[in-house]
Amino acid sequence: MKILMATSETVPFAKTGGLADAVSALSLSLAKLGHEVAVVMPRYYSIDRSKMIQLEGAMGVPVGGGEVWCAVYKTTLPGSPKKNPVTVYFIDHEIFFGREGIYGTPAEPDFLDNPRRFAFFSRAVFQLCRKISWYPDILHAHDWPSALVPVLLKYGERRGEIAHTKSVLTIHNLGYQGIYSRDNFPFLNLGWNVFYEAGFEDWNMMNFLKAGINSADKLNTVSPNYAEETKTQAHGFRLDGVLRFRSGDYLGILNGIDADIWDPAHDLAIPKPYSVKDMSGKAEAKAALQKEFNLPVEPDMPIIGMISRLTEQKGVGELFGPGYGSAFSFCRDMKIQFVLLGSGETWCEHEVMNLSTRLTNFSAKVGYNEGLSHLIEAGSDFFLMPSRYEPCGLNQMYSLAYGTLPIVRRTGGLADTVENYDEKTGGGTGFMFDDLTPHAIYDTVGWANSTYYDRREHIEAMRIRGMKKDFSWKKSAAAYTAMYESLLK
Ligand code: ADP
Repeated sequence: MKILMATSETVPFAKTGGLADAVSALSLSLAKLGHEVAVVMPRYYSIDRSKMIQLEGAMGVPVGGGEVWCAVYKTTLPGSPKKNPVTVYFIDHEIFFGREGIYGTPAEPDFLDNPRRFAFFSRAVFQLCRKISWYPDILHAHDWPSALVPVLLKYGERRGEIAHTKSVLTIHNLGYQGIYSRDNFPFLNLGWNVFYEAGFEDWNMMNFLKAGINSADKLNTVSPNYAEETKTQAHGFRLDGVLRFRSGDYLGILNGIDADIWDPAHDLAIPKPYSVKDMSGKAEAKAALQKEFNLPVEPDMPIIGMISRLTEQKGVGELFGPGYGSAFSFCRDMKIQFVLLGSGETWCEHEVMNLSTRLTNFSAKVGYNEGLSHLIEAGSDFFLMPSRYEPCGLNQMYSLAYGTLPIVRRTGGLADTVENYDEKTGGGTGFMFDDLTPHAIYDTVGWANSTYYDRREHIEAMRIRGMKKDFSWKKSAAAYTAMYESLLK
């Protein structure tokens, strides 16, 4: 099968979130399964094109009632199988992409011309296929920046050599939809009838993702449970009705984790590798973690780890909210240690540093640190994720792979990947709660902690069970292949 990924981010070229990791890992896994895969993305200013191959000739893209000319570069996606490499094509246009930032800068978080930048990019995807005479069976778009691709395919581009191409749209985060003034609509070179037919209209604005959801042949999000939740008012970000309308074509496919990077048996960022056969490396990681965070080195003291963006989505209000958050009280009341690595909202960064000085068993580091995140996953006994919503979530899967038991709210992908502890049988892989309240977090941390002290054999069995779970991209890629095949039948 020929698959073209149209995306605004791909690791290692440009990344602001999980989308970039997912596109790269999925493309590589599909190539390993034997599919012919290519990726197309904008050439942002930060992407070095000096070692890439430039395709001959300029490429004209029909937008804004005329034609906008650009260049195309290509290179191979790192990690590609030798016999079946994934080619990445870059759409290079000085005015649209020759600037700092992917979607914006700290001073201008959402560039004013984003609707035009990504409309231009989406049109360019089709011109690219014609330029290189490569016509995919599946055009796979991701999130709002490429959500126009299925719309353009349905309204005008599905012709000639592209007549049999089908489209898929993956929603990685429903919170971002690309909502802009309808004054941008004529730039797309679509008739105003399409504005209504494709469902761009959104309270007199223009909604990219909504039109993409209406137009794609198949849709999915990144976990089965989140697919269900997004069809409800509570989690639908106002698009629950549209998603319910498309529910026959709307699936949930769990993201995988990259086993080359997240495997305790081959992890160079931890003091000693470990596996289910020999867990001694985990105890060493624990000691190293306690030292790193200036906590007393005590092998039998349970440690909770947390690595997170410090934003509302991650439940940080209920955990660290001054005067009501539960972190202060459970650290004060329980024989436990708590380490945190994260960055985000200013109030929260201040509050966690403040708590670090007030409590002897809580220690936070503000910042982003990939290596330290591995040590936290390996050295902790528990991993806390009290998320408000979580499309898939990666950290709980990393935790399970490292024998660290997740303490999570039962939402989104967390509910799909963690099994709640059963005291009678000792079954499960983590500890879950439903209500996002400081009390529920406090009680669940207490539950995990008492299990650690009173039923250690259950804890050890849960660790092993978690480490044996298969969260590989291979499994996810097989599910995507099945979705593609259902379209081509
Ligand atoms: P989200 O994409 O919503 O932030 P996920 O759990 O899906 O949440 O993925 C977050 C990823 O970013 C994980 O790989 C996590 O380890 C990493 N991460 C988040 N904050 C930090 C940080 N401060 N330092 C290192 N890694 C971080």
